[in-house]
Amino acid sequence: MTADPVALARELIRCRSVTPEEGGALAYLQGVLEKAGFTVHRTTFAEPGTAPVENLYARIGAERPNLVFAGHTDVVPPGDAAAWRHPPFAGEVEGGVLYGRGAVDMKGGIACFVAAALDHLAANGGKPKRGSISFLITGDEEGVAVNGTPKLLKWAAERGEKFDHCILGEPSNVEVLGDTIKAGRRGSLNGTLVVTGRQGHVAYPDRADNPIRGLAALIAALQAPLDEGSEQFDPSHLEFTSVDVGNATVNLIPGEARARFNIRYNDRHSQVALKTLIERRAEAAAGGRVRFAFEWQPSNADVFVTKPGPFTELAQGAIAEVTGRKPQLSTSGGTSDARFIKDFCPVLEFGLVGRSMHAVDECTPVADLVTLTAIYQRIIEKYLE
Ligand SMILES: [Zn+2]
Repeated sequence: MTADPVALARELIRCRSVTPEEGGALAYLQGVLEKAGFTVHRTTFAEPGTAPVENLYARIGAERPNLVFAGHTDVVPPGDAAAWRHPPFAGEVEGGVLYGRGAVDMKGGIACFVAAALDHLAANGGKPKRGSISFLITGDEEGVAVNGTPKLLKWAAERGEKFDHCILGEPSNVEVLGDTIKAGRRGSLNGTLVVTGRQGHVAYPDRADNPIRGLAALIAALQAPLDEGSEQFDPSHLEFTSVDVGNATVNLIPGEARARFNIRYNDRHSQVALKTLIERRAEAAAGGRVRFAFEWQPSNADVFVTKPGPFTELAQGAIAEVTGRKPQLSTSGGTSDARFIKDFCPVLEFGLVGRSMHAVDECTPVADLVTLTAIYQRIIEKYLE
């Protein structure tokens, strides 16, 4: 192995790239990739009401297939830096463990796929064995994800870039490197249930209509199971996150009550069908006695699944060759940028072990960085065979 993923990861961690700050992370990658012969594009996307965000697209080779590695250099804030054993942006190694914000989510993953690509190029006279290798790196994944991957994909498509398969280097493993590939994600939908009554004095309830009664009945009805899961997904789930009346007066029956909820849904539903299902259930529970309405928030997090096939088998094979483990295909967890990439090419998520992500003392064993680099290298070799 020639390229050093640990050195790369440490350099990246030292860049304070808390969303939406670039923090020098993309500039550093640009330098490394240009030196290795990649054509590197830096693009800044902006939109009213959001912070402008820098992104990077790099490619070596002009032919297909084009194997894309995707990721994000932005990180969540460290919280109280004094609570960390090692400063969150120092990239210190102690006892064979690399500490720092982004160590696993996901500067470590980026360091490994960059190192793997550099090794592949070094072993093949500075070029991919065939086809192309690309990197799609955003600075806006942990934030609102508006000026990141969705716009970068659109920008690349408009330039005529074609992607054949993508590995997203998010921390996918649960306990040990090689245990899990993410092959899809649940959708996420937010809504608010609003029940309207009639305000009045608590001493004269017959003259008022308390919306809290109706809201309680509807909340109970909406918590019934949505399905029993599907071949590749757990059951969908609706969770109420806030119940709001905002009434500070002790002798007043309020005129309105609201409840917010989030639904994580599987591939048995589309967003439209799911809204209809929820509204019908509320209607049945209301029985014509409760006046209610739903406010749905727009969502760009639709459910998707990458069906098993040759690419999945190739990735599983490479992981098994290096680690001796056959990874399970999972669709659990929160959303990721894979929800956008899936519209352009099949995408699998495989990276480090996610246990410490977003936590104080985020860290990864150095040995995992070396192993993950070897896995990515094997994936590249097999793919560009
Ligand atoms: Zn991430």
